[in-house]
Amino acid sequence: MIMLDAAVATDVGLVRRSNQDRGVAGAVLCAVADGMGGHQGGEVAAQTAIDTLQSSFASQGGKEGLEKAVRDANRAVWERSLADEALRGMGTTITAATIDPNGAGQLVGVHVRDPRAYLPRSGSLERLTADHTVVAEMVRSGQLSPSEAAVHPGRHILTRALGIEADVDVDVWEVEAVPGMRLLLCSDGLVNEVGEEELSSVLSAASSAAEAASRLVEAARLNGGNDNITVVVADVLEDASGIAQHRGGGEAPASDPSASNDGFFEPLPPSTAEAPGAAKARRSRGRGSRRITLKVVLFLLLLAAVLGGAVAAVILYNNSSYFVTLQNGRVVIKQGLPGGLLWMPPRTVERTTLSESKVLRSNLAGLKAGVQEPSLAAAKHYVHNLVTEYNELPILPRTARPTTTTTTTTATTTTTATTAAGG
Ligand code: MG
Repeated sequence: MIMLDAAVATDVGLVRRSNQDRGVAGAVLCAVADGMGGHQGGEVAAQTAIDTLQSSFASQGGKEGLEKAVRDANRAVWERSLADEALRGMGTTITAATIDPNGAGQLVGVHVRDPRAYLPRSGSLERLTADHTVVAEMVRSGQLSPSEAAVHPGRHILTRALGIEADVDVDVWEVEAVPGMRLLLCSDGLVNEVGEEELSSVLSAASSAAEAASRLVEAARLNGGNDNITVVVADVLEDASGIAQHRGGGEAPASDPSASNDGFFEPLPPSTAEAPGAAKARRSRGRGSRRITLKVVLFLLLLAAVLGGAVAAVILYNNSSYFVTLQNGRVVIKQGLPGGLLWMPPRTVERTTLSESKVLRSNLAGLKAGVQEPSLAAAKHYVHNLVTEYNELPILPRTARPTTTTTTTTATTTTTATTAAGG
């Protein structure tokens, strides 16, 4: 019988205050959820998704059961977010895998997010799946070239997540479960920090799933740890009887990362005096590792989630924020926040012909830092006020530069041009 020997390792990282990732590493079901949403939203979304996934899967397993469990999880997160004002807009990405008992040992996975599946071929990793990111879809529709996409600030923005809508598109993948295969499920906190080459070498070198998981988390921390990091590594084994004893039960998922940390603390070198069941499990894992190295049957599924924050909410917030600032000596209106918000740099939406020299000196410091306005209309109104203030106070020192031209002509030109300026 084909089973999984899986381990989860998770870490808050070096930047985030809370861990909004959740991971499950069971003998039958493995999953990673990366929550998003302000305050407690991300944690609630990920935990709700994992709890629902597990309870739904417990009543129906296999491929259909897993797909249904993900839909149920989506519905649970969605309903919870509707029921609680403070959780509105929360969501989570999720990826899960199981062994389908109906097939001849099929490894089945589902995902709702930016999934990446790789197969190593002649020393490099071959990409198996397409991204569900905004940028990936722009490339497919010809709006962006692949090289533009690689540096696009929106490259991590997903087109799908769990809990954002009542129903969700679930992608299903299926591969033959070959003993010795090693599967990786992870949040984007891993793949954003650790390159494919390093991932591949850690996965093939580690002697157990637990060792691989904890080493990968460590690598992500060493490379910056900018996000929560959650890694589930699952080894496909032929005989799981040893695992069941070793782990004190077949399905023993660790859903609470703070409590489990299975990947961190499991002792790596096997002790010489072990229960017979444990020894059997070790041998199975050892065989699996050798197969990975010798036959190069390494199957990596990298599921890159979004930046941990509330993607939908953050984008909405960013897009509804405007500020007036100076650019190349001219007043401009930008969408977003001064200095940018997470991965989103501010975007110029209105260029005006109002030059810095036609702005009162008292307004310059604020403009340089960026004057925030609640809407585009309010930002335009602010620009008009700049012009009006300049015109109404002709005697005060207006700019750093001496002004010798006639005020009336200049101001009229400026006002007209500003009104006509468009993005
Ligand atoms: Mg993340």
